[in-house]
Amino acid sequence: MAAKGFSYHRPTSLGEALALLADLGPGAVPVAGATDVWVNLRAGKLAPEALVSLRNVPELSGLRKTEHGLALGACVTHAEVEDDPWVAEHFPALHQACSGVGSRQVRNVATVGGNLCNAAPSADSAVGLLLYDAECRIETGIGHRDVPLTEFFAGPNRTVLGPGEVLAEIRLPLPAGRTFAGYRKITRRKAVELPMIGIGARVTLGADGRVAEARIALGVAGPTPLRVRKAEDRLEGELLTREAVAEAAEIAAQQAKVRDSWRGEAWYRREMIRVWIPRILDEAVLSRKG
Ligand SMILES: Cc1cc2nc3c(=O)[nH]c(=O)nc-3n(C[C@H](O)[C@H](O)[C@H](O)COP(=O)(O)OP(=O)(O)OC[C@H]3O[C@@H](n4cnc5c(N)ncnc54)[C@H](O)[C@@H]3O)c2cc1C
Repeated sequence: MAAKGFSYHRPTSLGEALALLADLGPGAVPVAGATDVWVNLRAGKLAPEALVSLRNVPELSGLRKTEHGLALGACVTHAEVEDDPWVAEHFPALHQACSGVGSRQVRNVATVGGNLCNAAPSADSAVGLLLYDAECRIETGIGHRDVPLTEFFAGPNRTVLGPGEVLAEIRLPLPAGRTFAGYRKITRRKAVELPMIGIGARVTLGADGRVAEARIALGVAGPTPLRVRKAEDRLEGELLTREAVAEAAEIAAQQAKVRDSWRGEAWYRREMIRVWIPRILDEAVLSRKG
């Protein structure tokens, strides 16, 4: 099927982008790196009347680091995160997740905001962000609203963004205390590949040495990237023993809504969760990441 023609717009401010989206109506689609949009256009799954590029909107760019945390403009690319040593030190699981997206060529243009807005169950950076309690700043055109990332996804390839709304910024508080975290993407082959399963874990220890905060997040384990609260509950308040971690991993494996697909069978995905949550935390503690 031949692609329908569409107009292309390149606003240079957030206000202009929002005004264009409002004026052009529901047929207008925002686009950032276009790595998903282009694939969908080519496949005939997307037939916009207009594309509104967000790439030249300065309000959506840049990483801001403060003593309280990190704010990522929605158009920050995965390569920008990959190249940032401060992010690697303070948010290692996010750094690992972003560094594993596609190839370097893809990461040079693919944005973190686009990864969230595309809302694929396999979105790598979404899992990394879930581990750090990320919050999304959504610009509505008449104001803004802040939505926790846990509430941002509405289903496979669906978010809570309304027509004409733009994801502007993703904010992460700096984890307190001693934090250990990591992300592991399991793929069928060592090449540009979406995850068969994406596995993330973080623990933050309190002054008493017990786990004050635990986060277990998974990709390709349900309709959206998700946290596994029951597994987190198993760890919180406990000492970080091998037994506690193994039990949390087992809970996560059981809770995961994995299925058979050409990328991997459900039993194997569960097994990877079981095996990798303890390994991720072991590696993080040994390398003192976090
Ligand atoms: C070869 C290849 C390899 C890939 N490998 C991986 C991988 O390993 N892991 C992975 O997770 N993904 C992968 N992807 C998917 C893709 O690269 C990511 O999802 C990427 O982060 C999307 O970002 P983008 O800037 O290109 O988004 P775009 O394609 O520009 O947009 C994606 C969607 O988000 C919307 N959107 C974008 N930005 C905003 C915004 N600020 N506000 C509102 N809506 C917005 C668009 O309308 C569209 O619906 C791969 C893609 C390709 C082509």
